[in-house]
Amino acid sequence: MRRSGRRPTRTASANRTRVSSLARHDRRHLVHGFISPAVTRDQGTLTLARGRGVYVWDTDGKRYLDGLASLWNVHVGHGRSEIARAAAAQMKKLAFAPTLLGFSSEPAIELAARLARWAPKGLTRVFFTSGGSEANESMIRLCRLYWRLRGREDKYKIVTLQRAYHGSSTGAASLTGLTTFHRYYEPLMPGVVRIANAYCYRCPLGLRYPECSVACADELEAAITREGADTIAAFVAEPVQGVGGVIEPPKGYFERIRAICRRHEILFVADEVITGFGRLGTRFGISRWNVVPDLIVFAKGVTSGYLPLGGVILREELFQTLEDAGPGFALHHGFTYSGHPAVCAAALANLDILEREKLVAHVRRLTPYFARRMNELRASALVGDVRTAGLMGAVEMVADREQKTPFAMDLAVPMRVRAAALKRGVILRGSGDNVVACPPLIVQREQIDIIVDTLAEALDEVAREL
Ligand code: PLP
Repeated sequence: MRRSGRRPTRTASANRTRVSSLARHDRRHLVHGFISPAVTRDQGTLTLARGRGVYVWDTDGKRYLDGLASLWNVHVGHGRSEIARAAAAQMKKLAFAPTLLGFSSEPAIELAARLARWAPKGLTRVFFTSGGSEANESMIRLCRLYWRLRGREDKYKIVTLQRAYHGSSTGAASLTGLTTFHRYYEPLMPGVVRIANAYCYRCPLGLRYPECSVACADELEAAITREGADTIAAFVAEPVQGVGGVIEPPKGYFERIRAICRRHEILFVADEVITGFGRLGTRFGISRWNVVPDLIVFAKGVTSGYLPLGGVILREELFQTLEDAGPGFALHHGFTYSGHPAVCAAALANLDILEREKLVAHVRRLTPYFARRMNELRASALVGDVRTAGLMGAVEMVADREQKTPFAMDLAVPMRVRAAALKRGVILRGSGDNVVACPPLIVQREQIDIIVDTLAEALDEVAREL
C-alpha cells in the first residue's frame, strides 16, 4: 500500500499478508477489555497504523476521523513529533529514577510544578501514577490516610454517584456506578456509599428541573445523615460524567455539594480524568462551577495519550498532614512508574502545545457550535436525548421517545450505530444506551460537521434496519 510522501518498503501483497497475519495474532493473543471476546473472535478488530491531527489510518490505508480522541484522551491530536522527541531525548539522557525511594528526575519535578500552576489555587502537591484507575486507587488511600493521621479512624467511606466511571481496578471499579463493571467481580470494596446522580433526562428521584431545586445535591446530605459524617472520608464525582453518558449536573449542583462537604468535614474530590486539560473549555472541568475541590484526579489529556500517566493533585493542607506525621511515617503507597522521567517529559511537551496553541480557548469558542450541531440529531426517531458539555457529546437512543423506553440490550443499537459510522470513516463509541463523540481539542468546524453528518447517516441506516 503506497502512502503519500513515503517510499513503499513492501509490495501491496506482502503488506496484505502481514495485515492478515496480524489480525490472526490479534484474535489469538490480545484481550480487548470492553468488547465481547466472542465479537472480536467473530468480527476481528481494527488495527491502526498511523495518525496525524484528527485522523488515523488502518493497516489497509483507510482513513478515519478520530471522533473520540481515541479514548477521550488525544487532546492535541496524533503525530506530534515534538512529544515523541521530548520522550526520546529523556530516555537517552536518563531511563529511570524511582520516586518511590526518594529519587527525582528533572521532568517529574518540572511537571509537578507545572500541574500545580494549572490546578485551581490551593491545590499544590502532585502524586503521580500510570493512569486513571491507579489515580483513583491512590485517591481512596490518600483520603483514608489523611483522616487516620488526624485521629479520625472511622472516616473511611467514600460517597460516589450512580452511573459514575472511576476505573476498573478493584477500588476504582467499586466507586464506579455502572453495574456492568460489577457483575462477575463482586464482592466490591467495602465502604462505598452510592447516591443518585444529576441525570435530568431520567431523574433517579423522579423530579423535573428546575422545579426540583437540584434536590439530587441534597442526596449527599441525606447519605451523610444516614451513615454518619464521622464515617465518611470523601465524596467523589466527575464534573461531567463521561462513560455514564455525558451527564452534566445543573447549575448550582457542585456549589451545594461543596458546602455540604465543608459542613460535614468531608473531602471533595473531582475526578478530572476526562474533563481535565481543556475538554470543557476550562483547564479543569470543575472550574465551570464556582468551587475548588480538595483533590483532583487526572490522567488521559495530561499526555494526550502519548504515554501513560495519571495522578492526584492535593490541597496543601492535606500534604502538610503527611509531612507533620514525622520521619517515622511513610505513605507505603505508590507505583514503580510514579513520575516516570520520559512520561513526564512527554506530558511537559503536551502542555506546551496546549498552551502555545491556546486549545482551552479554542474549545470554548467551538462549544456552542458543537452543541448546536449535535442537537440537530434529535431529528432522528432513535434519539431520546442529546447532551453536550464542551467538546464531549452523547446521543441517548430510545425505542420509544414518549416513554423513554431503552432498546433491548441484545439489539445492541448503539454499537450498530457506531459500526455504521466506522464504515463511513468516523470513529465514535457506543457506551450503554449512548453513542458518544469526543474529538481531539484541535478539531475544526468542518470536522465537527463530518462527525455529526456521519452520525446522522449512521442513525438513519440503523433506523431502517430496526
Ligand atoms: N476516571 C474517569 C472519569 C475515567 O473516565 C476513566 C477512564 O475512562 C478512569 C477514571 C480510568 O482511567 P484509566 O482507564 O486510565 O485507568
